[in-house]
Amino acid sequence: MKVDDVKVVGVLGAGTMGNGIAQVCAAAGFEVVMRDIEQRFIDRGMETIRKSLSKFVEKGKISQEDMDATLSRIKPTVEMKDLENADLVIEAVVENMDVKKAVIKELNEIVKNQDAIFASNTSTLSITEMAAVARKPENFVGIHFMNPVPLMKGVEIVKGLLTSEETLNFAVEFVKRIGKEAVVCKDSAGFISNRILMPWVNEGIYVLYEGIATREEIDKGMRLFTNVPMGPLELADLIGLDIVLAAVETLHRELGDKYKPCPLLKQMVAAGLFGRKTGRGFYDYR
Ligand code: NAD
Repeated sequence: MKVDDVKVVGVLGAGTMGNGIAQVCAAAGFEVVMRDIEQRFIDRGMETIRKSLSKFVEKGKISQEDMDATLSRIKPTVEMKDLENADLVIEAVVENMDVKKAVIKELNEIVKNQDAIFASNTSTLSITEMAAVARKPENFVGIHFMNPVPLMKGVEIVKGLLTSEETLNFAVEFVKRIGKEAVVCKDSAGFISNRILMPWVNEGIYVLYEGIATREEIDKGMRLFTNVPMGPLELADLIGLDIVLAAVETLHRELGDKYKPCPLLKQMVAAGLFGRKTGRGFYDYR
């Protein structure tokens, strides 16, 4: 399949990543169907998209007409069958292999275009393992966006063991079409991005856990020392601590003990302190 053949993009999940992916695809002119399991998640996702587009209008980056046109191209839904006309589906549901496999199996039955490409936005999980349950493993690829999606330029394209060259090229072309830049790698836990980034975040949490510095000093230090826009604890709050823990656990399981999750990270997730999305993490957003 060619990018020119894509009319409808399906996005599964309207959370932190799903709504951003829906926004950038719609802004690039694609019809988008964004599906989540409950109306309140859909409503929150659409609200986030509206706020993000409004900021672009305020800054003069897009016109009010562009914003309205982008919004009109997004169909929010709780019905899986509304994805039947999708030519490309990008899943951005929770970072859990069983949930991801279940939605891929549903797509196998629902999506009418037999050449459709299925993609996963997973942070760390195996593209090869997900592809194994897809009706055409060669049409399955990792398209891993960065958070916040409307602002971050880089997208990691992950080639599973059975991903075809055609599908890989499609993903690279698609990413270009939506104004982003692709970086290609092979399927391996955490790919390039999170193999390097997640141990950094986890280590920042260890530094707090061991009482070496306050949260503010850790974040300020890393911003000043390495010129990153956010320190590890601020970044963990932005990503979502549940997602960070799932990612670090995958790296630990697949790559060994040096990726062991910090006990404080586990405790905070157990306590429901997921960061910005729940109002509290290392910092308080309420
Ligand atoms: P999130 O918790 O913000 O959103 C996930 C959404 O998926 C929720 O709204 C949930 O209701 C929905 N969902 C669950 N089951 C579903 C189903 N069967 N159909 C449709 N929707 C369903 O999580 P997120 O941060 O957006 O992460 C989504 C994916 O993106 C994960 O695989 C994650 O690893 C990856 N990712 C996250 C980040 C980040 O910074 N948060 C960055 C890159 C990639």
